[in-house]
Amino acid sequence: MKTPQNPHVVILPFPAQGHVKPMLNLAMLLSNAGIRITFVTSKAVLDPLVQQINLTSFRTRFPSFQFNSLSDGFPTKITRESYASVSLLLVDVFDTIAKVTPRLFRELIASLCDDEDGDESSRPTCVIADGIMSFAIEVGDEFGIPVISFRTYSATCTWVYFHLQKLVDQRFIPFQQGEFDCPITCIPGLENKIRLRDLPSVCRQRNSEENTMLQFYMDQASAMSKASALILNTFNELEPDSISQLGSVFPNVYAIGPLQSLSREIIPNLDSVSSDGTLWKKDRSCMAWLDRQQPKSVLYISFGSFLTLTRDQRLEFWHGIVNSKKPFLWVTRSGSILDASDSNNVPAELVTATSERGLIVNWVPQEEVLAHAAIGGFLTHCGWNSTLEGITAGVGMIGWPGLADQQVNSRCIEEIWKVGIDIKDMCDRARVENGVRRLMDGSDQEMVDRLNELRRLARQSLAIGGSSFGNLKRLIEDMSKMSS
Ligand code: UDP
Repeated sequence: MKTPQNPHVVILPFPAQGHVKPMLNLAMLLSNAGIRITFVTSKAVLDPLVQQINLTSFRTRFPSFQFNSLSDGFPTKITRESYASVSLLLVDVFDTIAKVTPRLFRELIASLCDDEDGDESSRPTCVIADGIMSFAIEVGDEFGIPVISFRTYSATCTWVYFHLQKLVDQRFIPFQQGEFDCPITCIPGLENKIRLRDLPSVCRQRNSEENTMLQFYMDQASAMSKASALILNTFNELEPDSISQLGSVFPNVYAIGPLQSLSREIIPNLDSVSSDGTLWKKDRSCMAWLDRQQPKSVLYISFGSFLTLTRDQRLEFWHGIVNSKKPFLWVTRSGSILDASDSNNVPAELVTATSERGLIVNWVPQEEVLAHAAIGGFLTHCGWNSTLEGITAGVGMIGWPGLADQQVNSRCIEEIWKVGIDIKDMCDRARVENGVRRLMDGSDQEMVDRLNELRRLARQSLAIGGSSFGNLKRLIEDMSKMSS
């Protein structure tokens, strides 16, 4: 008879901020439940990640948690500046990872299965792989290890990705700019709720790189559907229909978000031993600045860890924000403005207004910022983590999506959840100014009510008896069964 083995889960995120953060939070939650963890990512991500963690305290709190680096094929950190476009960068990243990482991942799993010291417990009992690292499913099959996909996007966007082939077959894709507002009718549960312009950016087909990316995402969706289950960083009450639709693809769907809040709810004093999975040092000086501002008066602006703005786009936003006359806190991480060498040419009125009522910083503790009483609105690129953090904090959003899933999220913010304004495909100062005023003047009672309701539901899902709390418990129980 086979002896029951202690669960050992290998976790493989895609090596980028928005993917590593929720997967680290899940890893800590599983480790807290007594599950052995091997967390695997590229050196370029692992080094800054562990720099933000107090490793001595971390090892005491999570004694069976290992970090392991695995090459993504790039000798050094990838920088946006070395590529003519973001599509070229992404194609190169996906291509290089596909050439290098699957072989190394297979070797890692083989070595864990074949531990020289005869340590049977080193054999993984389950792999949790990022939904866009689906080569892990083949590796798991080879070694008889179940693989669960973790999609770091919303359930709605994940559901949309499962329909890319259908969108091509029914000739919604490719489409021209003049057809942007054409409603999409072929995605069950989302009929007429999203338009062509709201599809993930790979559907826009502006160049051959986007064609390659579209094919990549179609292949990933098809490969991912072979996973034994799906984990999502969302909560049942936010996306009930899409989560239930995904149940037709996967035998088990675990909606366990917002993960960064769930980990803090369940693991006592987590902030004293770990970070939330951030890759940059947080500048906390903004918190004292926020303390000096009026309640709900400040606009918080961040375009996430990856998106870049051109100099002109930044100026349009800057003028719009300054013209709205609201105090503002703006994250501008280094490298996020293209043509930044031109930064001396900023109009004097912007410099003066910023010194009077603005603060520009490199990287902040975003969730703490959003929870601060002074914050009255969030101008966001609609990365999924940021969107979920805005909802959890009950802060209304202006969505200006750039790429990937952000287009879908921005639409959901306005049309489905009704907690903000979608300004995709527009970047002019008048719209920004009007959007900021509309968002922050508090006169849209429906939006205020929806924000309060979704914040309440998010909190409720995390508590004992709540949906995300319960789904995590079910995941942990199912993982324990995998090892017996
Ligand atoms: N973030 C942060 N400090 C900042 C800006 C962003 O900690 O100054 C975090 C934010 O809380 C979020 C993550 O970075 O969890 C960005 O992830 P998201 O999915 O929103 O966007 P991406 O960076 O993947 O485009």
